[in-house]
Amino acid sequence: MTHVSASSEPQSFDRVLSSMCTEPAPAARRAAMAFLGSNPGDPATFQTIAARERETVSMLGELVGLADPHGYVTAGGSEANIQAVRAARNRATVAEPNVVAPTSAHFSLRKAASLLDVELRLVETGPDHRADPKAMADAVDERTALVFGVAGSTEYGRVDPIPALVDLADSVDAMLHVDAAFGGFFLPFTDREWHFGHAGIDSMTIDPHKAGRAAIPAGGFLARDRSVLDALSIQTPYLESESQVSLGGTRSGAGVASAHAALETLWPDGYRAAFERTMELARWLATELDSRGFDVIEPELPLVAWEASQSLFERLRDAGWRIARTQQGAIRIVVMPHVDRNMLDAFLTAVDRHRP
Ligand SMILES: *Cc1c(COP(=O)(O)O)cnc(C)c1O
Repeated sequence: MTHVSASSEPQSFDRVLSSMCTEPAPAARRAAMAFLGSNPGDPATFQTIAARERETVSMLGELVGLADPHGYVTAGGSEANIQAVRAARNRATVAEPNVVAPTSAHFSLRKAASLLDVELRLVETGPDHRADPKAMADAVDERTALVFGVAGSTEYGRVDPIPALVDLADSVDAMLHVDAAFGGFFLPFTDREWHFGHAGIDSMTIDPHKAGRAAIPAGGFLARDRSVLDALSIQTPYLESESQVSLGGTRSGAGVASAHAALETLWPDGYRAAFERTMELARWLATELDSRGFDVIEPELPLVAWEASQSLFERLRDAGWRIARTQQGAIRIVVMPHVDRNMLDAFLTAVDRHRP
C-alpha cells in the first residue's frame, strides 16, 4: 500500500530530468491546500484570494522591472501566451493580423494562432538558437500585430535579444511580448536584458509553477498598460464581479495562493540561491558530458542540451530516467531545484554504462 502524505508526491522526482516543474516549496504546498475551494475568477465573492492575486501580480512585477503591473495568475504559460496573441489581435486595426516569432517559441503559440485565426510567421533562429532580429525583420509588415520573443527557451534555455525585438516591433507599430515562462525566476540574477525595465516590452509570460516553485496551476500574464487587459475584458452577468479578463472562468485558488506563498518566502534570496546552485550543477554536468566526448551546448540557464544517439536515449529511458529531446534530437536535461549532485552522478553512471 502506498501512503501519500500532504507533504509529498505519489510519484517521486528522483529521476525526473525532463520537466520544468518541480517539488513545490513547503509553504506553497500548504497554501494550495488551504484554498482549494476559493475561486479567484469571481473576485467580488472570493475577496481573500482576490487580494492574494493582486499581491502576487505586484510581487511578480518586482521580478520583472514593472512598478505598476497589470495582470493575473493564469493556468500556465500556455494561457498567458494565448492571451498575449488575443490582446494584440483585439487591438489590431488591420484586417488579417499576423504574429512574428522565432521557431524556438513554445508550441502554445500554435494553439493561439489556431484558436484566434491569426497568421503565425515562424522565423528560423540563428546558429546560437536565439531569435534572429534581421531575419525577423523580413517577416514583419504593416499587418504584424505582435512580435514574440523568448527569455529562456524551452528547448535550449536561450534568451532572445529582447531590446532588438522591441525596436523591430516599434518599427511596424506592433506589440512586443516576452515569454519568460521558464526563465523568469532565473534571469533576475543574471545581467541579461529581458524585462520591462530593460526595454519597451508590452506584455510578458512568467510561470510560478515552474522555477517559481508554486503548485500547479500557476502561470502569469503581465502587462505594462491597463489597456492590454482591457482588450481581454468580457462582461460577466450573474457574477458579483462585472468583468473578466481570464480565459478560464472558475480558476484555481490553490494555484494563486501557492504562487503568493512561494513568492513571499523565496523572493529574492531563495530564488537566487536556487539559481546559483542549479546553474553551477548545469555547468558541471555540461563539463562532464563534454569530457566524455559528447557535443554539449553551453548552458545559459540551468538546462543542458547535448547530442546523443537514439539508442543511448532509449536505453536511458528504459533504465527509468525521465529525459526528453529537442526537435533536433538533442537530449535536454532541465536542472530544476529537485535535481542534486547525487542524482546527476547516478545519471552519469547510467550514461557510462549504456553508451556504445
Ligand atoms: C513551459 C513553457 C510554456 C507553457 O507553459 P505551461 O505552463 O506548460 O502552459 C510556455 N513558454 C515557455 C518558454 C515554456 O517553457
